[in-house]
Amino acid sequence: MIEIKNLVVEIEGNRILNGLDLTVRDGEVAAIMGPNGSGKSTLSYVIAGKEEYEVLEGEILLDGENILELEPYERAARGVFLAFQYPLEIPGVATMSFLKAILNAQLKARGEAELTTPDFMRRVKAAAERLQINQDMLKRALNVGFSGGEKKRMEILQMALLQPSFCILDETDSGLDIDALRIVAEGVNALRDGKRSFLVITHYQRLLNHIVPDTVHVMSKGRIVRTGDRELALELEASGYADYVTEAA
Ligand code: ADP
Ligand code: MG
Ligand code: MG
Repeated sequence: MIEIKNLVVEIEGNRILNGLDLTVRDGEVAAIMGPNGSGKSTLSYVIAGKEEYEVLEGEILLDGENILELEPYERAARGVFLAFQYPLEIPGVATMSFLKAILNAQLKARGEAELTTPDFMRRVKAAAERLQINQDMLKRALNVGFSGGEKKRMEILQMALLQPSFCILDETDSGLDIDALRIVAEGVNALRDGKRSFLVITHYQRLLNHIVPDTVHVMSKGRIVRTGDRELALELEASGYADYVTEAA
């Protein structure tokens, strides 16, 4: 379970998160919707531990432990995973080497033995097949020359391999056509197991037809301004964010 309490965050003197409260229970799929610039990506970065954000107040408790004190790799070791809105291209790094490194680091953190190369290959191939990622893509440098949709699927492949306990998806649906969206959603749904928690950030209700959330939060100006169930997403789709942009001003 993750509990975020009164989170206040600035970057370069600008206040981006403004007393944000949010709880995601074990097994819960929580969606965050909200207009551009409301701080959704900032929230995901602060949870994952990206530097350069100044946390002025508040705490982020993962199963009771304040993870704000931890390095990003320590948070990852505890099961926090962020699928980026804009996955980076990393020219010098072979995709397979990268996947092997992150998986072995995760296994080590859990006190489990590293996989043998054949076991690793089998696992990657099975996950890649499910996400319709072809073998040629796996032979390239990480994300280099991948289409937008391929990059997003590569994020979900990492998630499938790592089996994190708290998965954050930051606009994984943006730039995906309807087929790619379905593939990604199936990949995510396959990981739902009643224990693992998800924070699904999206602008559009469309994704939530495929990944059906338990809870929907509306974020505006750096805080959660409304919480509801699935119906709230449908309501937003009809009415837009106009009410919320002014509400929290
Ligand atoms: P969202 O994901 O909801 O669109 P972001 O978290 O990306 O919102 O951004 C929230 C606000 O913070 C925006 O006004 C954005 O311009 C600002 N912001 C984000 N990153 C930085 C940065 N590195 N430096 C300055 N301002 C930033
Ligand atoms: Mg945005
Ligand atoms: Mg964003």
